[in-house]
Amino acid sequence: MYPCLEIDLGKIKSNAEKVNSVCKAHGLEVMAVTKSYCAIPEVIRVIQGAGIKRFTDSRMQNIKRIRQEGFDFPIMLLRIPMLSEVEELVALAQMSLNSEIATVRRISEAAVKQGKTHGIIAMIDVGDLREGMWPDQVEGFVRECMEIPGIEVQGVATNFACFGGVLPSPENTRLLDEAADKIREMTGKQDLMVSVGGTVAFELIEQGLMPTGINCIRMGEGISMGTDASHEKSIDILTQDTMQLAAEIVEVKIKPSVPIGEQGCDAFFCKPVFEDKGMRKRAVCAIGKQDALIERLTCKDRAVEVLGGSSDHLIVDVTDSDEDYKVGDILRFTVDWANMLRLTTSQYVSKRLI
Ligand SMILES: *Cc1c(COP(=O)(O)O)cnc(C)c1O
Repeated sequence: MYPCLEIDLGKIKSNAEKVNSVCKAHGLEVMAVTKSYCAIPEVIRVIQGAGIKRFTDSRMQNIKRIRQEGFDFPIMLLRIPMLSEVEELVALAQMSLNSEIATVRRISEAAVKQGKTHGIIAMIDVGDLREGMWPDQVEGFVRECMEIPGIEVQGVATNFACFGGVLPSPENTRLLDEAADKIREMTGKQDLMVSVGGTVAFELIEQGLMPTGINCIRMGEGISMGTDASHEKSIDILTQDTMQLAAEIVEVKIKPSVPIGEQGCDAFFCKPVFEDKGMRKRAVCAIGKQDALIERLTCKDRAVEVLGGSSDHLIVDVTDSDEDYKVGDILRFTVDWANMLRLTTSQYVSKRLI
């Protein structure tokens, strides 16, 4: 069935092993982030096989899927919980990132009812301005948590390059380290999880610049893709090209390179611009913006140029290729993190594990 996302499990496993061994050598645990590929069970299995023991996802639906598959490893919810999902959260996951005491109270109620203890990881914001409390609010938050039954403060965490594009540095990671010291002092709990994310923080670990108090990295992209988008690089020691998109050609025709007639906007409120290259041989593939960020696709056949598309169609220029593409042929495209997210989410894209 096409379009098809082909996933190379061997490459992902090798990435997981390498990431795990570098982090271990620097005293950090890797928590694998599964949100960006909808927690595909086969992918999780190979990451588990690489020695990674804890997993984390932003969506309760994915966590449910993981449990339905029979995995019993500890799971952390990566997104600040919705009040409407705390019952399920407590039932299926062991810990969650939290920044709102009102939410912690609701988690507590659910935990007491279910006879469980749920781990609270205090989420702090060291400057990226997505979620998290300001570091100086940690003390008050933890003090309130210590009065609440059914929960336990088990760690502290922060994010980099999620909203503001802020990169980790010795200075901002130290803020996390200091918050952890504060929590240890208040709670007496020595084995706190002190967690950074995501993949963007791996560079500091590789360079040996992560403060030693930080003992966990939440990582998705590096393991699944071998890249670090926030530093705009491939990670040297890892393998890229872990996934490819295969799309089927449904039409091949010679047409002008510039549309004919008065031009309005397309369905996405854009007015495309065209360069006149004369008559060109074009192929239409059966995949579109509903499934992929088509402007981020590049064809494996370097002579094929992506021209654009619509909800269900991708249009490519095949004039310069050595291949004589025909209807029914398959074109393959590279997949980056953003497209992995879209393609794995699309119910119209089949997944093939190789
Ligand atoms: C998505 C996410 C991560 C993982 O990011 P990658 O860049 O895929 O490694 C880590 N932490 C949080 C809170 C996230 O939402």
